[in-house]
Amino acid sequence: MFTPAELLDINTLLTPENKIVILTHYNPDGDAIGSSLGLKHYLAAKGIPAEVIVPNDFPKFLKWMPESKKVIIGEYKRKYAFDLISGADVIFCLDFNSPSRIGLLGEWLIKSRAKKILIDHHQQPEKFDFVYSDTVIPATSQMIYHFIEEMNDEKLVNQNMAECLYTGIMTDTGGFRFRSTSATTHRIIANLIEKGADPSVITSNTWDTNTVSRLHLLALVLGRIEVVNDGKVAVLSLTRNELKEFGFQKGDTEGFVNYGLSIAGVKMAAFFMEDLYDDFIKISFRSKDDVDVNQFSRKYFSGGGHINAAGGKSNESLYDTIETFKKRLEEEEL
Ligand code: 5GP
Ligand code: MN
Repeated sequence: MFTPAELLDINTLLTPENKIVILTHYNPDGDAIGSSLGLKHYLAAKGIPAEVIVPNDFPKFLKWMPESKKVIIGEYKRKYAFDLISGADVIFCLDFNSPSRIGLLGEWLIKSRAKKILIDHHQQPEKFDFVYSDTVIPATSQMIYHFIEEMNDEKLVNQNMAECLYTGIMTDTGGFRFRSTSATTHRIIANLIEKGADPSVITSNTWDTNTVSRLHLLALVLGRIEVVNDGKVAVLSLTRNELKEFGFQKGDTEGFVNYGLSIAGVKMAAFFMEDLYDDFIKISFRSKDDVDVNQFSRKYFSGGGHINAAGGKSNESLYDTIETFKKRLEEEEL
């Protein structure tokens, strides 16, 4: 948590006169959008307006969240996003910890004269004016709740905030299943339910949103899942042409990598996907126990994230990327 002195400083920065911007990471997920909108609703409850800006578009299954339609998408509104970031007095950086994770917005962030406040749970944070970084907390949305508690503002938590924070915690814990899900997490969830977050509505808004084409795409991926390294590593993949054939939309492949990890004995799953527009391979890693995919992805695939969930990329072909991956596994003796 921020120190008491930092909290006082932050409190004086949070005024209706100051221009406040909330930024979150590239390819925003449930926690990115949930924490950003949760914070926006909190500030609104204090009478303080703020704008949420994301580098690129986010999946349709998150667009039911209160005020999600007002999120500014940098790739569509470059000039507007630039003006807001350049003119900001305070910038909250949520669910990422390095300007390199927000694309073009990162350059504008670095140049901005705003006070930069980091709230994030990823490994190895970079420097910001105020840092609340805790890699043991399962979701940035939970950290927003702790921040609200420390500001003595729990009474301000309303249904909008509760729905957003619940969604962020639910998605980043894989439905309250992953390792860092704690009793504290569940206590906060209980509070959020009391404030109006409805678990069945949120679950079905977020997760019961499959299209037939997404299920067909999943069937294709599952049909050729490969298990290597004595049954310890699962490999999944998709080509650009397959994405096109199934009418891929943002978010359609979310969660596919977890099927690899659900195989008995598998300790690490990797999902390789050709980007639809650019010439690179997007990689998602998931792992169990002490298998550290953050380090692995940082070392070999220009990525990072958490110990048990990380992402990366490669400029080789899909086939070569997977071959390289298998060689790296041997080197690391995973
Ligand atoms: P996903 O596989 O869902 O894209 O990402 C898993 C986790 O790793 C998320 O917390 C995400 O923020 C992080 N992550 C994904 N890609 C990258 C990357 O290229 N660099 C870093 N540092 N983190 C990433
Ligand atoms: Mn997160």
